[in-house]
Amino acid sequence: PIALFGEQRKNSMGVNLSNDNELNALAASVNAARKPWLAEPLVPGVKNAGEFRDVTDPADRRRVIGQTRGADVPTLDKALANAVAAQPGWDALPAASRAKILEHTADLLEARRAEFIALCVREAGKTMSAAIAEVREAADFCRYYGAMARKLFAQPEVLPGPTGESNELFLHGRGVFVCISPWNFPLAIFMGQVAAALAAGNSVISKPADQTTLVGYAAVKLLHEAGVPADVLQFVPCKGSVLGNSLLTRPDVAGVCFTGSTETAWTINRTLAARDSSIAALIAETGGQNALIADSSALPEQLVKDVCASAFDSAGQRCSAARVLFVQEDIADKVITMLTGAMAELTMGDPGLLSTDVGPVIDEASHKELSEHAERMDREAKLIGQVAAGESTVHGTFFAPRAYEIPRLDILHKEIFGPVLHVLRWKADQLDKVIDAINATGYGLTLGIHSRIDDTIDHIVKRARVGNCYVNRNQIGAVVGVQPFGGENLSGTGPKAGGPHYLLRFATERTVTINT
Ligand code: NAP
Repeated sequence: PIALFGEQRKNSMGVNLSNDNELNALAASVNAARKPWLAEPLVPGVKNAGEFRDVTDPADRRRVIGQTRGADVPTLDKALANAVAAQPGWDALPAASRAKILEHTADLLEARRAEFIALCVREAGKTMSAAIAEVREAADFCRYYGAMARKLFAQPEVLPGPTGESNELFLHGRGVFVCISPWNFPLAIFMGQVAAALAAGNSVISKPADQTTLVGYAAVKLLHEAGVPADVLQFVPCKGSVLGNSLLTRPDVAGVCFTGSTETAWTINRTLAARDSSIAALIAETGGQNALIADSSALPEQLVKDVCASAFDSAGQRCSAARVLFVQEDIADKVITMLTGAMAELTMGDPGLLSTDVGPVIDEASHKELSEHAERMDREAKLIGQVAAGESTVHGTFFAPRAYEIPRLDILHKEIFGPVLHVLRWKADQLDKVIDAINATGYGLTLGIHSRIDDTIDHIVKRARVGNCYVNRNQIGAVVGVQPFGGENLSGTGPKAGGPHYLLRFATERTVTINT
């Protein structure tokens, strides 16, 4: 149990990955859950009419796994009108009632785990272990924000004042929140954004990433089943540019919760700033150029294991993933040799198999971008490790993980969102230069540190401007309520997801003073 301001809450138990029986039974039901899934707008009062398009499996593009169709501009208009009308009633509910619905959602999610794992594996190419963790995180977000709503929103804060006067501070939802999520955590981030906005008393218009519409649809259906009214939470799959141009320009949008690339955050920020009849709250969690610093006291075996997890888990498609390893010269040769060997042991293939370490990347566009980056690295850097691509990968969008030793950090111009690790050597007197170079990228999401010297760890932690530091472990997989997650500078506005201050940004404060 986790003590949350005096409340007891348990994170989801997930699945025991070392219990073969449990795991094999789950894998069997995940594969049995394969069926034609469907997604379309969920907007009361709108009869969907557009054409469906096929959704294919990233691990095998010949396999159609479902169909989806998107929202047009009149549907977005209706969704906004519904959301405006529904929000006051939702906000007026006791916080405990909203929390109960979110907790029920978490229970349903765990009960239907196999279906959601199957969706994450087949639509997003998640490996089994990543998909298990994803479902667990989504359930944790629902329970955590439910608990926070009970704590923060149930009673007003009673404030001091002169005799004959009462002062109270109330928290309310801001109004209509638009939640925009990325494809790389199609369930956990989608659910986390929506659960937080709902917990705080907002109505929500949710937009999944184009690539993972089926997962988003299933999540919204589940929230409806758990008790969220259909006009309080609506689902509008559509291209980001359509949403940006027609919905975010409207004064009735009180807040936007966005997770995705830094470039899209800039676009959304400009769209919201151009409105001259209201001011919207923007929560933006964005990209990173994450580093790991290892000094000569690091344990090479542990370092290499943690580097492989940090750089290649989920095919490197995590915002927290390690992109650059700075290794001290004294141990660099040994670490690189071990890294080359460890990479050769990784298995790339069907993410539905328990033996697979690395699944596909999300789509052709991502594959093309990664291939172009690799071609440039082949010219400008030295290839030091690569995962073999087997027969089973030929029909999917697989990109074999690679590691390069690079001459300078500034040959990387922007976030590389995939399984490519870059390695740089540093000498004993260059630690501050290394930290300053990391800060100079402008990003500030995660940083790994491998060292056995307390002073060195302390020095790096104090000098580095990043949101999440991980010492002597991997730098991925933040746990809700345990490692509140989010970046600084180009990596995000905060507040941290899964942290005690997150809900406050979704709320507005009202002070009531009464002359008694
Ligand atoms: P993306 O291309 O920025 O898209 C994110 C979302 O924004 C999608 O739903 C997209 O819709 C939508 N969008 C695009 N243009 C828009 C516009 N003009 N107005 C409104 N919405 C718009 O990012 P992604 O490729 O999905 O995700 C990968 C990125 O997310 C990486 O940079 C990664 O580091 C970052 N990320 C950050 C965190 C974090 O917590 N800091 C977590 C996960 C991922 P369409 O799909 O229709 O284009």
